[in-house]
Amino acid sequence: MSDFKKHNWFAVGASALVLIATLAAGSKFEVSLILSVAVYLGANFPDLDTASTPSKWAARFALVSSAYFIYVEEPIYGLIVCMIYISPKVSKHRGWTHKFSTPVLITATVLIIFREYTLIAVAFSVGLLAHYALDRLNPFEFKNWI
Ligand SMILES: [Zn+2]
Repeated sequence: MSDFKKHNWFAVGASALVLIATLAAGSKFEVSLILSVAVYLGANFPDLDTASTPSKWAARFALVSSAYFIYVEEPIYGLIVCMIYISPKVSKHRGWTHKFSTPVLITATVLIIFREYTLIAVAFSVGLLAHYALDRLNPFEFKNWI
């Protein structure tokens, strides 16, 4: 199984766990779903720095969503989507997207600039940390664990 598939299935499990846990804690379904999707995206985001399957899907998403934002005359959002897509590619594989400082910086930046979205940034960061944990297990005896 490729690394992408391991990360993807791990992301599915982590996001399902977040969905169930937040619903059990009394959260609204929409909020739980958004947090769950943020965990899923965070767990797959670090490997957008290579020519991986998630990177190809992200490119398609960036292209379609940018076209949509241009169509609705909000090109700045299309530009933001493209910048987010390109940002992992400015570094080597397992560069800044795999540093423990990244989730801290993302959460802190969102907390300062877009305070109302901080919980989403925390969920995204949890996904990043889940990705790092799985990456660190892979080179050792758990290489074919999943
Ligand atoms: Zn990775």
